[in-house]
Amino acid sequence: MKYYIPRLRLGVLEPSQKSFCDKIGGLPWGLSKKYWPICGECKRPLTFNAQFAHNRERLNLGAPTRALFLFSCAEPSICESWDAKGRANAAFVLNSEKMTDGLTSPPSVSTTVEPEAIVVGWREPTENVGPKLYSKLWRRSTAETVTHKLYPRSKLGGAPFWIQPSVLKLPSPRGRFLLQLGNAHEFEGPPPKPAEVGCEFLYYSKDKEAVRRVVPRGFNQLSYPYWRRGQPGTNGRPSQIVVNSDGTWNCETAGFPGMAYVFMLRDASCYMFMQN
Ligand SMILES: [Zn+2]
Repeated sequence: MKYYIPRLRLGVLEPSQKSFCDKIGGLPWGLSKKYWPICGECKRPLTFNAQFAHNRERLNLGAPTRALFLFSCAEPSICESWDAKGRANAAFVLNSEKMTDGLTSPPSVSTTVEPEAIVVGWREPTENVGPKLYSKLWRRSTAETVTHKLYPRSKLGGAPFWIQPSVLKLPSPRGRFLLQLGNAHEFEGPPPKPAEVGCEFLYYSKDKEAVRRVVPRGFNQLSYPYWRRGQPGTNGRPSQIVVNSDGTWNCETAGFPGMAYVFMLRDASCYMFMQN
């Protein structure tokens, strides 16, 4: 079964955005401010998590003019952003005629803006879950018996990789699996210098025990009221980048626990839930 893994670049190192693009974190493109969802629990604007355009193979949203927008509450310890039927997350599609042509600024200065990861392409691996295993993924008792050969990571299409099949409880009707989204992402290419990104860098040793910390001049995360993954007042500049000994590098892009899963129903409404 084929699926699609996003190839990502850090938004702050890319040219300024001129049109819609698939992305994780940062600010949404094309979202009219009236559609920015509010958390039904804490009543604050939800945090933007990702947007993806329709694509017949990767992400079938039912019409080429549609795009999917994902939001969740930045306070998962207070609001139940993990719940498919809760009011603390939002997953919805918009038609292009309802979209604007620019970045949407956050509704409030206190709205969390996550580090921005721009999708620059896709990798198309094939997983070991064929039709027989796929049919077992939707019930707790059988889902537990499915073994994926690959590590769970953000992907469009394919088969969902449940972090916790033992507590799986899907809404009815279930709808069609669209994608899963993790809360941290790896970026392409060699790691940038701390001064290029303007944030704290943690360099891990091979055994991940020793950490070298580099903080560029002018960056002071202690000046925040509290630590945030994205630097307040920016369009998605991260606060912290982790560089592994093999040269791979990543940062957290969302506050939700573990993995988010998104489904679409026949009427094109969507829902999202999370597992950790
Ligand atoms: Zn909330």
